[in-house]
This record gives sequence, C-alpha cells and structure tokens, in this order.
Amino acid sequence: MKDILELFPSDDGNKKTQELFLESIKKIVRNLGDLKNENQATLGNIEEKSVEYYNELIHSSYIPKTGIGIPNVIEELNQFMNGHPYPNKYYLSNAVPLPSIPSLLGLLTMALLNGNGVWDVYGPAAAEAEVKVVSMLSKLIGYDPNNSGGYTTWGGQGCVFSSLRLAISKSFPQAKEQGVPQNVYCFASENAHYSLLKSAEATGIGTNNLIKVKADPHTNSIDIEDLEKKIIEVIEKGGIPLYILATMGTTDTFAIDNIKKIKEVAEFIEDKYKLNSIYIHADSAMGGFYSFFNNYEFEQNPLLFEPSVKDALKQIQEQMQYMHLADSVCFDFHKLGQAPYATSIWIVKNHNDLHIMDIEQNDTPYLGNRSYGSYHTGYTLECSRSGNAIPMYVNLLAFGIEGYQKLLANYVRVNLLFRKKLREALPQVAVTNDYTYGPITTFRFYMHGDGEENWNEERTGKSTQESIEETNKLNIEIFNHLGKNRDQIFLGDTTRSCLVNAINGSERNPISTLKFFSISPYTTVECLDEVVAFIKKHVLTVTNDIYACI
Ligand SMILES: *Cc1c(COP(=O)(O)O)cnc(C)c1O
Repeated sequence: MKDILELFPSDDGNKKTQELFLESIKKIVRNLGDLKNENQATLGNIEEKSVEYYNELIHSSYIPKTGIGIPNVIEELNQFMNGHPYPNKYYLSNAVPLPSIPSLLGLLTMALLNGNGVWDVYGPAAAEAEVKVVSMLSKLIGYDPNNSGGYTTWGGQGCVFSSLRLAISKSFPQAKEQGVPQNVYCFASENAHYSLLKSAEATGIGTNNLIKVKADPHTNSIDIEDLEKKIIEVIEKGGIPLYILATMGTTDTFAIDNIKKIKEVAEFIEDKYKLNSIYIHADSAMGGFYSFFNNYEFEQNPLLFEPSVKDALKQIQEQMQYMHLADSVCFDFHKLGQAPYATSIWIVKNHNDLHIMDIEQNDTPYLGNRSYGSYHTGYTLECSRSGNAIPMYVNLLAFGIEGYQKLLANYVRVNLLFRKKLREALPQVAVTNDYTYGPITTFRFYMHGDGEENWNEERTGKSTQESIEETNKLNIEIFNHLGKNRDQIFLGDTTRSCLVNAINGSERNPISTLKFFSISPYTTVECLDEVVAFIKKHVLTVTNDIYACI
C-alpha cells in the first residue's frame, strides 16, 4: 500500500510530500518552457499524424500491470507537449486563448479541492465562485443580479442547449413528461454557430424546425425583415415560434446581430398573434466579453485608445449594450476570457425560471434538499460539475475591467492595421468582414483583378455560382498550403464565412476565406509585417503554380 500512497497528496500537510509535488510541477512547467519558441506557433516540432499513426496507438496502448511511478508520468506528459500548438504571437487560427497565470492557479486550486459544483455541501468553493461570477457578469451586462441566475456548463454549445431546454420548459411546462410538441420552431441567422442545429436535434424539436434566416450582405448580421417574414410564415402554417438565437459575435466573422430589433420583432409578433413570449438567447460565447466596454467613457477615453480603435470599440459596444434584452446569455472564458477549457457560464435573466427545470425531491435522494447546504443545482443537465467558476472568478479579479479592456482593444487595433497592411501588400485580396470590428479578419483571394471589386460583385449577388466555386477552390488551395506551414505562422480558415446569392441559381453559396484571429496577448502591431510577408510569399507560390499549369 505504501507505493500507492505515494501517489496521493498528504493527509497532514507534511513538507516532504509537499516538496515532491512542487518539484513535479516545476518539472512540468520547465519542460513546457524548454519547448517554447516565441517565433513559432508550435511547441517543439510539429508532426503530421496520419490515420495509421492513430491505428498504431490503438494497437500499442494498454494499462501497465504495475504503475510506472511519478518520474515516468512526468516523462509521459512531456511527450504530449511536443508538436502541440501554442498561442504565441503567430497563433492566429481561432479563438484558442493563452490561459492566464491566475486562471491556471484557479484551475489548480479547483482540482486540489475537487469540489462538486452540484451542491455547496460538497463544493462550497465551486458554488461560491459560481454565485459571484454570475453576479459580476450580470452587473456588467445590465441584468438585475438579484433576479438573475446561472451555472457553468459544457461550452457555449451547452449554453445554447440549456437555453433551448429552458425555452421549451417555459412555454410547455408539460413537455417534461409528455415530450416536445411537434409544431415548435427555432430561428437563427444562417451565420449562427451549429450549436443550435445540434440542440434542435437533441431536444427532439428536429432540425427541420430550425429556420435559418438570411444575413445582411454588408454586416453579416441577421436580416431583421427576413426574420419577421419567416416567423409569420411559420405561424400562418400552424407552427409556434419558440426561440430566437441572437449571435453576439459570430465564430467566423464576429458579426453581431441587432438584438434590440430582434426583441422588437418578437414583441410585435407576440402581440399581434397573442402568443407566449418568444425566448431569446444571446449567443455571446464569442463576443460577450466586449461588454467590458459598457461603462467605458468613450468621450474622455481614459485608456487613451487611438481614434480608429476607439471608434471601432464604440461601434461594438453600441450593439453589445442591448444584450440584457435576452432571456439568457453566455460567456466562454476559454475564448476571449483567457482561461483554459472548458470554462463557459450560462446566465439567465430570471433565476426562478431555472426551477421550472428542477428535478423532484424524490428523484434526488443522495444530495440536496437537506437542512444543511442551500445551493443545489438540481436543474442542470449535468449531475457532477467541476468548480470551473473558480478560474473564471480569479481572472475577473486579476484583470479587472481595465485589464480586459486593454486586451480586447489590442485585438481590434491589431486587426485594423492588419487589414490595411494586407490590402497594401496584395491587391488581389478582399477583406470580407470589413464592416465588422473585433478580433477577426476574414479575407479572400482572387485569381484575376482587384480583390475589393471582385468581392463587391460576389457580396451583392452579381457573380455566377461557377466563379464563386472557382474562387473557393483557389482559397482552399491556399489554406492547404498555409496549413502545412502552420508551425511558423498558424492562420485560420473557413469554408463558409458567409453565404451569398449568385446571378444564376436560387441557392445561397458559401464563401471560403482565410482567417486572421488575434487571440494571443503577444500578437501586437509589431508582428504584422512578418505575418503579411508570410501570407504574400505563400499565396504567390500557390497562384504561380496555378498559372504554370494553364
Ligand atoms: C464557440 C462558439 C460556440 C460553441 O462554444 P463551445 O464553447 O465551443 O461549446 C457557440 N456559439 C458561438 C457564437 C461560438 O463562437
């Protein structure tokens, strides 16, 4: 038993065990440090992994008969690090943050205490941090913290799912026992995250009852007229509009839906057709953090942002300020919140609503509902929950409002300058989310002519399906080429940054673009010449190869 006990933290706080544990942590941190290279987006050397590679892992993996001991454990962990992407300054692929030191310390504390968020008797720290974070963020966005509630859950997707589940419970209290009525419908922009597609499937509403609403060709945000038209069509066919997803910063282009107008349309229709309130979830997984500018004094500009950055931030904030109109919102700390996975929190405007989804006392015999303990989250879909509000909580304290403002403003600054430098270096490129400010730039290359002119034609539906498809192929070729060189500069890409009409055919056509996502605090305006030179070099290689073939 002694060798087994060595694998555990002490029961008495003795210094010897403590030192051994600290030494192990030191080794892990050192191993990671040894693999870092500030000029690379990867730790050590990247290795392409084939299907055969994984087949070999399946073949060779087994549980050892006797344990391998801590030194070997550290060596195994070290193996995992080599070739891993790392959000250094040239990590520009997607919203993968560099977890801050406070959030890592929070995570360590969470794991050391190992409280269960389901009940404050088992996880007092988890419960307390959750209550605090819900309150802090409620105050930030303009919910009444005395009425709001919420919990940490499995990602922004879990927040979308939870909100749809709540929408069903609120409109159909009997759905718990009888299932979901077959004539309820959900609405979202065609640019919304696929979370709602999955949620429509998993709640049994069915994906046929998820109605996609067109996006505006300039802003990529939901077309309000099309939303109204599609809701009325559903009602006139006997359907019930249940739920609208308002995306506050789309995953690919950072487009922000006009939630104020969405709410107005919903209220107008409820009134006209005498319907229950249509549930609105603000999918703010990506963009919610820009609420940190809600109380920024743009006139006085205390953080001295340059005029272009200040104006862009103001434009974002003008949309974000209405997030409180939603019935629920979400914050993904593992995106712009600078915390490790998975740190998402779902916040509802009225905590009483949560109890509609609560489990009966008889069905939860093991915990909750005692004379001791007073925070039991019987309404979550998970049973045991980690205390991951702890890393969120310490990040909010460590950065403060101004810390987040500085970080988030820098993403905007870097993107504004990137767009300018990119256009100067490559006339065949178009920025396809030019009307949207934030941490993301999507851009697209054309084989012939001026990029912006080509894009204006495509955006406004004046190109043919064939030419859109042709340009998509060119861009996908560029993705593949850049992707092979991602150990140096790791750019993102998407096969559908938005949809456009074509001059021929009635279908909406996907637009493939490259993506520049500034997420690392180390990505500054000083890095941009290098990034643009890298893009130029590789794009010219691809286009020259194509020319050579024709
Ligand atoms: C990332 C994202 C999601 C999904 O969030 P996860 O945390 O990955 O589950 C949902 N909606 C939007 C807008 C997102 O950007």
